[in-house]
Amino acid sequence: MKTADVIVVGAGPSGLRVAARLAGAGLDVRVLERKPRVGMGVVCTGIIGEEVFDERGLGRGPVVSQLRRVRLVSPRATEFVYEHPRPFACVVDRERFDGELGRAAASAGASIECGLRVEDIAVGRDGVRVEIVDGGGAVRRESAAVAVLATGVDYALQKRAGLSAPRDFLKGAQIERATPDADVTTVFFGRDVAPGAFAWSVPAGPGRARIGLLTQRDPKGCLRRLLERRFDAAGAEGIRTRPVAQGLLARTCGDRVLAVGEAAGQTKTTTGGGISYGLACADLAADVLIDCFGRGSFGAPDLAAYERRWKARFQKEIVIGHYTRRMCARLSDGRIESLFQLARTDGIVPIIRDKADFDRHSGLVLALLERLSFMKAFREIRDRLGPDAWS
Ligand SMILES: Cc1cc2nc3c(=O)[nH]c(=O)nc-3n(C[C@H](O)[C@H](O)[C@H](O)COP(=O)(O)OP(=O)(O)OC[C@H]3O[C@@H](n4cnc5c(N)ncnc54)[C@H](O)[C@@H]3O)c2cc1C
Repeated sequence: MKTADVIVVGAGPSGLRVAARLAGAGLDVRVLERKPRVGMGVVCTGIIGEEVFDERGLGRGPVVSQLRRVRLVSPRATEFVYEHPRPFACVVDRERFDGELGRAAASAGASIECGLRVEDIAVGRDGVRVEIVDGGGAVRRESAAVAVLATGVDYALQKRAGLSAPRDFLKGAQIERATPDADVTTVFFGRDVAPGAFAWSVPAGPGRARIGLLTQRDPKGCLRRLLERRFDAAGAEGIRTRPVAQGLLARTCGDRVLAVGEAAGQTKTTTGGGISYGLACADLAADVLIDCFGRGSFGAPDLAAYERRWKARFQKEIVIGHYTRRMCARLSDGRIESLFQLARTDGIVPIIRDKADFDRHSGLVLALLERLSFMKAFREIRDRLGPDAWS
């Protein structure tokens, strides 16, 4: 049995970021990842807000394209182009992005071991013990003062440790391929395209696009139909699927354990993006854990500062986004179509230009609800959210 200060389970962006910060503060950090290599086989479009790079001191090496102009396509193929005054987001190659975060964690002193699945966790008075299975099926145990669960959409360990797991998920599917018009960012809406959410094509480097969608059901079938109808491409080969967590989680830390990133439900409930919230919350987790090591105290009341801090920053975004997305999922194609007509004629674009923030959507959502509340569906959302949502 080995003993570290902190065991981080999961080497995605959130886990690697916590590991880098904690190791940089002089703690002995072990990162355990079940995949054979960091960043391998991630299903993600890789869109990250422009500001995140400077805010988190990230290199731009993994950036493959920038987003500024977006073509929105309605259920009846009405098109509307929104152009932001400047690039608002970057698209990264996730394997390289995660690889750079891994190198940062390793050079800060964290030990990262891949091909190890953490099967179980037990929290005792003196520490946390994890049971690990390697690629050959051999079982071993390691222990630490604290465990950070950064397992993405796998919630088995959270449940074992008494933390919350989401009840709502969207289903994602994506493929990357060479395609004509690959440099045009397009978002598709409609019940026939992506019931309950939306689909996209995003530039992923010269001549290539990531084409994907989020939906309430049948992600592979929906993407196959989108490829056939809009991209003249048949077949499901190469389509990869993964769920996205939706909604605020009640309990993301306890005695000697905390969850971070998608493992703690820290995703944008409007779009399903999770990288930037995960990195921001990883920094908050590291700040709190460094304080805990300073005091030598790791009980639930000590770690609760983490949950208070991340919820102070993101709770409103997650709750308003989740509610609005679920209500919008009920809009008929006819309603979506009339919104497109309004967007072309009715002064919605200046509101978007003024209020759009890539990572914080509540300001834009609330401004649009005010503007659109003459329509019954939007009046209902506004009234359900109540006056507090505006303060
Ligand atoms: C189709 C699709 C498109 C998306 N596009 C975007 C986008 O453009 N922008 C964006 O910000 N987000 C996007 N997301 C969401 C984004 O991918 C996630 O929110 C993000 O990867 C979460 O990072 P994380 O570090 O919390 O978890 P992850 O990146 O999921 O990392 C978790 C790691 O933990 C490991 N792990 C899990 N369980 C164990 C275990 N028991 N033992 C050991 N290791 C374990 C996993 O192998 C994995 O490597 C998209 C999601 C989907 C499905």
